[in-house]
Amino acid sequence: MKIYQDYDLTNNNTYKVKLHTKYFVLPNNKNELISILKKIRSEKEKHLILGNGSNIIFTSDFYNGYIICLKNMNKYNIENDTIIAESGVMLPTISLASINNSLTGLEWASAIPGTLGGSIYGNAGAYLNSIMDYIETITYLDKELNIKTISKNDINYGYRYSDFKKDKDNIIISCTLKLNKGNKEESLKILKDRQERRKLTQPLEYPSAGSVFRNPPNNYAGKLIEDLGLKGYNINGAYISDKHANFIINKNNATGEDIVKLINYIKEKVKEKYNIELILEQEIERD
Ligand SMILES: Cc1cc2nc3c(=O)[nH]c(=O)nc-3n(C[C@H](O)[C@H](O)[C@H](O)COP(=O)(O)OP(=O)(O)OC[C@H]3O[C@@H](n4cnc5c(N)ncnc54)[C@H](O)[C@@H]3O)c2cc1C
Repeated sequence: MKIYQDYDLTNNNTYKVKLHTKYFVLPNNKNELISILKKIRSEKEKHLILGNGSNIIFTSDFYNGYIICLKNMNKYNIENDTIIAESGVMLPTISLASINNSLTGLEWASAIPGTLGGSIYGNAGAYLNSIMDYIETITYLDKELNIKTISKNDINYGYRYSDFKKDKDNIIISCTLKLNKGNKEESLKILKDRQERRKLTQPLEYPSAGSVFRNPPNNYAGKLIEDLGLKGYNINGAYISDKHANFIINKNNATGEDIVKLINYIKEKVKEKYNIELILEQEIERD
């Protein structure tokens, strides 16, 4: 496993915020992951687990430690209605593979540019589905580097939440998913519809990390922001999208700090006008 030094992370975060990391590693399997974690401990360095970087805002231009990207841990196997997959598998990959095996359930995930691990962490979802609906078991490494397998019923999860957000030392290494028998042609139709709907409603032509805020109960974050007339508002290169007000886009070399300042501005305005506290869906990484 190669350790890259002073690595440019611009293409490893979908906001395309510019930064470097002291070290960058891509373990190919759980044994390599464990061995790099042991090395990091012995060197007393810090580390961050990264999937596809599609739900994270880096606020510094340098990460002073190891970024461990799990995208090379991407093996999966489909047998009947069950999928066993490593956490670095991309959602669009597993969505399409399941459809090709005439399984239904993951059509919604075909346009979400994250890994399975990242999606379990935040219980990613769309169109009233979420990944935890289909998870049976999760295998993770705990702080002491023990491998544990749990049923999804052993943890709390909900709308864009799982306990992995609370116990940040746990690293998801693989999972099993259970889907239903379906019809390939019908699933492909749903997949196409979801993708076209996204193209029409989301600013996919610009770097972003998807929806910025969770929807408040019985409301839509995007509508609240749009009704405040904030579409197009910007702080330096970070803009509230004209196409979808719950997206912040990097139009012109935005830094993570520009994005966070814009997030705080939106939260303040929404609180002032509607007395609603918007909750961030994305992770802020402060070095
Ligand atoms: C255009 C666009 C559209 C999107 N649409 C949606 C949508 O419809 N629904 C939705 O829910 N999200 C959406 N997202 C957000 C994002 O794609 C998902 O949240 C995705 O699941 C994040 O996965 P990731 O691998 O990129 O995570 P990352 O951004 O790499 O990481 C996010 C967090 O998870 C942690 N993490 C990652 N992998 C692991 C692991 N294996 N073990 C433990 N912790 C881990 C990281 O440390 C970090 O704290 C969208 C993003 C974009 C850019």
